[in-house]
Amino acid sequence: MIPFLDLRAINAAQRDELVAAFERVLDSGWYVMGQELQHFESEYADYCGAAHCVGVGNGLDALVLALRALDIGPGDEVLVPANTYIATWLAASHVGATPVPVEPDPETCNLDPARLEAAITPRTRAVMPVHLYGQPADLDPILAVARRHGLKVVEDGAQAHGARYKGRRLGAHGDAVAWSFYPGKNLGALGDGGAVTTDDAALAERVRTLRNYGSKVKYHNEVIGTNSRLDELQAALLRPKLRTLDEFNRRRAAVAARYLEGLAGVPGLGLPTVADFAEPVWHLFVVRHARRDALAQRLAAAGVGTVIHYPVAPHLQPAYAVLGLARGTLPISERLHEQVLSLPIGPTQTEDQTNAVIAAVRDAVGTMG
Ligand SMILES: *Cc1c(COP(=O)(O)O)cnc(C)c1O
Repeated sequence: MIPFLDLRAINAAQRDELVAAFERVLDSGWYVMGQELQHFESEYADYCGAAHCVGVGNGLDALVLALRALDIGPGDEVLVPANTYIATWLAASHVGATPVPVEPDPETCNLDPARLEAAITPRTRAVMPVHLYGQPADLDPILAVARRHGLKVVEDGAQAHGARYKGRRLGAHGDAVAWSFYPGKNLGALGDGGAVTTDDAALAERVRTLRNYGSKVKYHNEVIGTNSRLDELQAALLRPKLRTLDEFNRRRAAVAARYLEGLAGVPGLGLPTVADFAEPVWHLFVVRHARRDALAQRLAAAGVGTVIHYPVAPHLQPAYAVLGLARGTLPISERLHEQVLSLPIGPTQTEDQTNAVIAAVRDAVGTMG
């Protein structure tokens, strides 16, 4: 059996450091908004090359609080990728704005900058590029359109910790970057967590206030804030994990390189492409096949775990029936949702396991005709 992702093994690789972090917090007597959070925030800001990092409760809150801090709200439209995890859309909805989907480039699966301008209306206030699957979106043309039209740019970095765009780490290209530290992400806590990074001091300060009841000084509330804090335990656990992130990302890249080699030329199988501006971190290794469900079934029978990211496009979810975007309105994204399949990838996956997946995929496609 080759699991899709072996989280137990990933965390076991750093067991002693994680136990030490837990004991440090346990014995400190201080569990929310303390030293561990401060250290993690400055370490993660440095890592990303951003001036500021504000820890929050999860990735969705990071997106929501970044939008709120930028004053995006009711009546506003926010451009989002048609092809993303639904959290990106939900963030726009939670601030009272309307998510407006833009189709992806079918090769990179990321937002196609050439399609942005056609989606802009007088109500458009922001664009949210997602670095999907760990592949940086093409930020420069997106930022150029945003500048021309006075739009804010909030990046969704939930799948791309450590990825670089044109040689520079993600973290402060746009106005803000929202991060998730959900356990399965490349930088994952042992529970929920998130952060916002930015070079804008005033924006960071607003997120800091919003995450903590709208309060800078205890029991003095300036705005209607929320409770969304990265707790001391998760911050302490993330610190040793940040120190191994580059090494773990390199191991993911080695798995991806082996897949690209071993799966080249398999008939009907679409492989991920890496744009020349991108240094991806391979959160997922996503292939495409016209008979995706049959492929997934054969791989499951061969003991290979796969996951579909994602089976239903956001605009076709019951939650977004309210937008009235019928099937057929976003054909590129819809086709991707029908064809994508994520193969096992992770920092503890062995070469033997990777080779076994390659053999299983070749075998499965061969018997599918
Ligand atoms: C995981 C994820 C999120 C949400 O993060 P949570 O911490 O689970 O709230 C947002 N966007 C993308 C693209 C994600 O993959």
